[in-house]
Amino acid sequence: MQVRRAEKAGFCFGVKRALNLAMITTRERDGPVYCLGPLIHNPQVMEKLAAAGIQEIAGVEEARPGGKLIIRSHGVGPGILAAARERDLKVVDATCPFVGRAQKLAHSEAAGGTLVVVVGDKNHPEVQGIVDWTGGRAVVVEGPQEAQKLPAVAHMAVLAQTTQPLANFQAVVDVLQQKAGQLKVYNTICHATGARQQAALELAREVDVMVVVGGASSANTRKLAALCRQAGVPTYQVETARELDPAWFRGVKVAGLTAGASTPDWIIEEVERRMKELGEMVAVEENIKDTSVAGEEGQMAAPG
Ligand code: SF4
Repeated sequence: MQVRRAEKAGFCFGVKRALNLAMITTRERDGPVYCLGPLIHNPQVMEKLAAAGIQEIAGVEEARPGGKLIIRSHGVGPGILAAARERDLKVVDATCPFVGRAQKLAHSEAAGGTLVVVVGDKNHPEVQGIVDWTGGRAVVVEGPQEAQKLPAVAHMAVLAQTTQPLANFQAVVDVLQQKAGQLKVYNTICHATGARQQAALELAREVDVMVVVGGASSANTRKLAALCRQAGVPTYQVETARELDPAWFRGVKVAGLTAGASTPDWIIEEVERRMKELGEMVAVEENIKDTSVAGEEGQMAAPG
């Protein structure tokens, strides 16, 4: 069995940068280091970070004054930054620059009195952070149907959660063109997500089975798996090599492999190695079965 990896898979620029900053911070060894929520949606990496001394907290009030607070790549709003300063925490800002750009645009448009529309998931921390930068005045829509319900206003600006599909963003823009006297369009979609989705889709069309590696709670990993399934290929999502099932590779000539933006290379490599081993194991089993079936048929056909 051949195993092919998608051309773009695994850590994106923003996640790599956040992890590097986190590791540098732990090496400084001068006081506790905290992270608001999981730094990345990957339990295996989170275990390693916890071992390196990073404590995950749910709110700034859980941090000991004088410690360091890592802001993850999703970013946060000014309210959390102010609360961290009040608690005398040193902020290590690992907000992805692409998210930072969306925050700045939202902030300056809202400050100028423009209604800011964010296309994205209301419950996602990145979106919540962007909305906070508008003083809570931005409106979040998930798609064109929600956009239809917005009132007509003179000045509107629209931007996107960085992981939005371009087609959804464009569909919302088309609706808002009819609603706003003047509409400013900021495409804040990050290419990392689109490139990974495109590469996964292209590979899915050429293989017999797809394996998608990433945290069970990672939205971009789940999206990759959903896209591969839509392409009509059997698709399995795993967090580690241990979850691979040999039955998935029976009769498979080419297996595809991709990974979410929060999956480190060492896990992808482990999964790839194990897939190759399982492919060989299954091929041996199938050979033995074929040989024994041929043998039985030979005996049955023998005269006497
Ligand atoms: Fe940054 Fe894009 Fe990665 Fe999000 S997916 S962290 S915006 S590089």
